[in-house]
Amino acid sequence: MPVRRLPPETVERIAAGEVVTRPASVVKELVENSLDAGATSVTVDVDGDGTARLRVADDGHGMSEADAELAVDHHTTSKLAEHDGIEHVSTLGFRGEALPSIAAVATLDVTTNDGGPRGTRVLVEGGETTVSPAGRATGTTVEVRKLFHNRPARHKSLSNTEFARISDVVSRYALLRPDVRFKLRHDGRDVFSTPGSGNYTDAVLGVYDRTVAGQSTTFDHETSVAIDGVDHSLRLEGVLVYPSVTRSRRDHVHVAVNGRTVGNAGLKRAIVSGYGTLLPSGREPIAVASVSLPPELVDANVHPSKDEVAFVDGDVVESAVEDAVHEALTTADLRQSGEVTMDLETTLERREEGSSFDDVTVIGQFRELYLLCEADDDLLVVDQHAAHERINYERLRAALAGSAVESALVDPPETVSLSPAEAAVADDERETLTRLGFEFSRFGGGTYRLTGLPAPLGRVADVSTFHDAVDALRAGDDPDDARDELLKDLACHPSLKAGDVLDREMAADLLGRLGECEQPFACPHGRPTVLSIEEQTFATGFGRGGTRLD
Ligand code: ADP
Ligand code: MG
Repeated sequence: MPVRRLPPETVERIAAGEVVTRPASVVKELVENSLDAGATSVTVDVDGDGTARLRVADDGHGMSEADAELAVDHHTTSKLAEHDGIEHVSTLGFRGEALPSIAAVATLDVTTNDGGPRGTRVLVEGGETTVSPAGRATGTTVEVRKLFHNRPARHKSLSNTEFARISDVVSRYALLRPDVRFKLRHDGRDVFSTPGSGNYTDAVLGVYDRTVAGQSTTFDHETSVAIDGVDHSLRLEGVLVYPSVTRSRRDHVHVAVNGRTVGNAGLKRAIVSGYGTLLPSGREPIAVASVSLPPELVDANVHPSKDEVAFVDGDVVESAVEDAVHEALTTADLRQSGEVTMDLETTLERREEGSSFDDVTVIGQFRELYLLCEADDDLLVVDQHAAHERINYERLRAALAGSAVESALVDPPETVSLSPAEAAVADDERETLTRLGFEFSRFGGGTYRLTGLPAPLGRVADVSTFHDAVDALRAGDDPDDARDELLKDLACHPSLKAGDVLDREMAADLLGRLGECEQPFACPHGRPTVLSIEEQTFATGFGRGGTRLD
């Protein structure tokens, strides 16, 4: 269909409001245009938070020169025929407002080709539209630059999570349109891509990971719903991730209605209800569900940014969705869901501060790296390296404040040579270095003889730490920061590694020392030292329904 101007009576019925509120809303409109153009591949490129530059490129049907020029005007669309109502559209767009709204607050640069020998570029900048020929294969690229340059208040109100929002928008479409190849790039780096195979599991693998995709079942369910005494067909398809992998928020329930991603809370609730008691309490599932029903039962024109749709009878649709999810999970081979997934984000919670390790019993060591321990109703998993690092770090810090770090004799002494600048630091900071456990003397020139190395908890640091220590004391404008970096480094080197076998007594000793730390729950680099799995997770996994019978 050609692009044409909507008649005033249609314009008046459009749900009014701002279309472009942030970079993510621009991306949403552009991706929807690509999908409406029948694209099989959509690539989204974003610089920074998306205001400086973002670009959406597709291999859809493109536009002719005349259409492209008209498309950037207000209320011009190719998606509504002469007598179509806007209530029951089957395309994602229908208002003809996205491109002009973007052009009003940014530079809009459209390059397109509808299959002819050459393409067209339409550039809208500062209210001026320039049309010129351009080389491009069939499809459309829309680049948006300097977004909100003329809306300083809007620009300022953006947060530092704008890219995350864009990523959500693209993920959602990638999951709900597995037949389309999506690629998201940020500052030139690939964030994710999906293969466009049409398989929902492949899309989940692209957007999430192997753990999530491997614990899921696809489903395709047709049913009929009675609305106003008439039967209508409703189809629900997608993928349900087993309740062994959950999230703490409902953000991972992705829903589309007739191909449009929507935020309808009622539909999401229906999906969660479909999981019923399979979900551990307080947890939310990961699910992708695409609902298709006759367009006359859906009104997409109820929300300015089309984030929600209205149903003629929402209750009926919701209960059909709940039943379909329930049935899909009942027939799925849930044996796999019994596996306790070691998904650090989900099943395993960081152990909260405030708890002590006094009542913890060590069960044993796993993979010569993790200590498994019993603590009331929880199974604790301690990363022995991270835990040891934390202990060493706090010891070293205390050493700097007062007592010195133990030092181990280096026999025979090691020879280390330092540059003139490093040598100056070593001499100036001799006292600090000594307190950190280094013992050394200057040979002459830049050559030093190292006779003692730090040995916190009896584990000797590498010779290379001497260099690191000197560098750390030299670098950094703030000597305290430099010292802190050094401490982290020093804490790491002599710490237990994967492959260090600990017997129960040694493990209990490590835990005891960890318990004495000021901040036992994170290593000096901020990674957790201890994760816990509630007994409830096992009960759910083994289908014990929360009761502990036998
Ligand atoms: P709407 O999507 O509501 O029609 P837009 O302002 O988003 O309004 O787009 C206006 C018109 O520009 C569309 O109707 C379509 O004809 C054309 N168009 C926009 N983006 C594309 C694209 N990526 N590929 C092909 N045509 C496009
Ligand atoms: Mg549009």
